[in-house]
Amino acid sequence: MMDCLFCKIAAGEIPSKKIYEDDKVLAFYDIDPKAPVHFLVIPKQHIPSADYITAENSAIVGHVFEVIAKIAAELKLEKGYRVVNNCGEHGGQTVEHLHFHILAGRSLAWPPG
Ligand code: C5P
Repeated sequence: MMDCLFCKIAAGEIPSKKIYEDDKVLAFYDIDPKAPVHFLVIPKQHIPSADYITAENSAIVGHVFEVIAKIAAELKLEKGYRVVNNCGEHGGQTVEHLHFHILAGRSLAWPPG
């Protein structure tokens, strides 16, 4: 999508602090970290939000979680981490391109505010 920030990051048109990339997904550090470790994993394909996951495109979600596990091992996040997907206005979504936050490096409160 032409006007999508994360499509531009996925295409390399906007720079990011990349952690991992393959033909389907990109992982990069969040520009405004909310924990000592905070990165995002996004599909390269434009999917606006979790509301748009269907039987046709849902395999990407499994792949995202495979990549999260691989990065968590590489970054030695043995104490754990949180995976967050914000969907829609009340979910706190600000970028309309499906993305998963991975937060780690401190004990995280629950429930979220
Ligand atoms: O879930 P939400 O849509 O609010 O998350 C968007 C995330 O994208 C924010 O954590 C924000 O800091 C991050 N971001 C980024 N690089 C940008 C713009 C936003 O990492 N250029």
